[in-house]
Amino acid sequence: MTIDTIDLASSGRLTIDLAALEANYRILAARAAPGRAGAVVKANAYGLDARRVSRVLQRAGCEHFFVATLAEACALQPGLSPRAHLYVLNGLQPDAEMLCAKAGIIPVLNSLDQARRWAAMARRQGGPAPAALQVDSGMARLGLGAADLAELAADPDFFAHAPLALVLSHLACADEPDHPANQDQLARFHAMADSLPPAPRSLANSSGHFLGSGFIGDLTRPGVCLYGASAGEAAPPMRPVVALRASVLQVRDLPAGAGVGYGLTQVSDKPARIATIGVGYADGWPRALSHVGAVYFRGVRLPIVGRVSMDSFGVDVTGLGARGVDLAFGDEVELIGPHQTLEDVARLAGTIPYEILTRLGTRYHRTYLEELDMNKLAHTDRVDA
Ligand SMILES: *Cc1c(COP(=O)(O)O)cnc(C)c1O
Repeated sequence: MTIDTIDLASSGRLTIDLAALEANYRILAARAAPGRAGAVVKANAYGLDARRVSRVLQRAGCEHFFVATLAEACALQPGLSPRAHLYVLNGLQPDAEMLCAKAGIIPVLNSLDQARRWAAMARRQGGPAPAALQVDSGMARLGLGAADLAELAADPDFFAHAPLALVLSHLACADEPDHPANQDQLARFHAMADSLPPAPRSLANSSGHFLGSGFIGDLTRPGVCLYGASAGEAAPPMRPVVALRASVLQVRDLPAGAGVGYGLTQVSDKPARIATIGVGYADGWPRALSHVGAVYFRGVRLPIVGRVSMDSFGVDVTGLGARGVDLAFGDEVELIGPHQTLEDVARLAGTIPYEILTRLGTRYHRTYLEELDMNKLAHTDRVDA
């Protein structure tokens, strides 16, 4: 098939700007100095393709990558450079110690039991096995609490077998700069880390970069800002990475009083012109946008009418007529782009950009924009997925 027919055969067109991803990494890395910025590429790099994303980030100097599960780590590792450090945030399942150690993947030990099993494995192997240790500084999600940490800290034999590659903790309220929990967690994190042998420290996620230099530590763990989401008003804007467009499947004129879509939940009291767009909740376009979301055509807002279906939804295009514009089968509308950001879509759907990104569907035709030769070329080239 030619590219054009592939486009027509897909539900929509997702464009992922890898040059923007790289620019966002550089903003965060500058902010992390003199520490280093790593990258969180869990959930397939928030739905954008962990392999491609980490290739670009490695080129930009990133050497520390975080995934959630060992399966994600095993899938990603062959694509990383031998210099890269790959961490599994969700911890180590019993009996996965050897697999993890043999692959050179660094587990994030989240409990006393995980720590003991890892050290026992290293003892059996007769050599030290580096690991990361997570402490719970107040989020109550993962990591050792104060009592377990004290017990571990009193066991020098553990550190002989499991030298600490990293001590980390996670912030619960980093996206609310004035939340008092941030300073509490910062103080508790350092007090906990002080009870351990010296090791690099990591606390900040994306928004943690903008809480003040105290939060930076030795290594940061940005995720969502790499992928174009903003870290709030106090933070510099990130470059958008994702753009989403979809085609018009059909256009029809409705008389006053006719309903649109499942349940006929929306009825116009005036005649209306309705376009059906070929993307639905099976593509990750939230059903919560029913009645409240919109798309854009040549800069004009077209409100969603009725419910979002699995593979399509309706928009009211009546307003275009007054501008002398019409829509037809095959025309493309903007779902995420210059007129409607990822954050806008998330807000309208009552969710967060993370959820919109990680649910982006598999039916889109994906195009990765990449700067091929950063030294010479001013233009970007298209690399088709
Ligand atoms: C997901 C995650 C991150 C990245 O968070 P963002 O808000 O996307 O920057 C960092 N650290 C841990 C432990 C995480 O689970």
